[in-house]
Amino acid sequence: MRFSKGRNFLFRIPEGEEIGGFINRFAKENNILMGTVRGIGSLRNPKIGYFDEKAGKYRVIPLEGTYELVSLSGNISVKDGQPFAHIHVALGGPDGRVHGGHLVEGEVFVAEVLVEELLGEVLERKPRENGLALWDEAEL
Ligand code: ZN
Repeated sequence: MRFSKGRNFLFRIPEGEEIGGFINRFAKENNILMGTVRGIGSLRNPKIGYFDEKAGKYRVIPLEGTYELVSLSGNISVKDGQPFAHIHVALGGPDGRVHGGHLVEGEVFVAEVLVEELLGEVLERKPRENGLALWDEAEL
């Protein structure tokens, strides 16, 4: 898929917000249908997911306390007719060890986020047999 660069948004998410929900709302408010997301900061009591391929669903890993948001990366596309951010995170605990996975939820202590909009054909997530909501595969 070929896209051209759209607008760039750099912003801080208010403390106490749920990070994924806020990014989805931000995309909707600004009519961002496609894009990439990056961020750093700190999250409270985050939950991350590990997709269990055999079970066909996410195993949720709850983390207690405040974790450094070492890295947030993801993309924005369309799911159920709305902009939807698919986000993965690396979270650093007090001992410096990192937990990583699919972002399920996390309360913002600090979050500095960059959204880069992409313009072009809109990719849509659709439910697949493997239990995931995915784009159509690319054709060469
Ligand atoms: Zn994921």
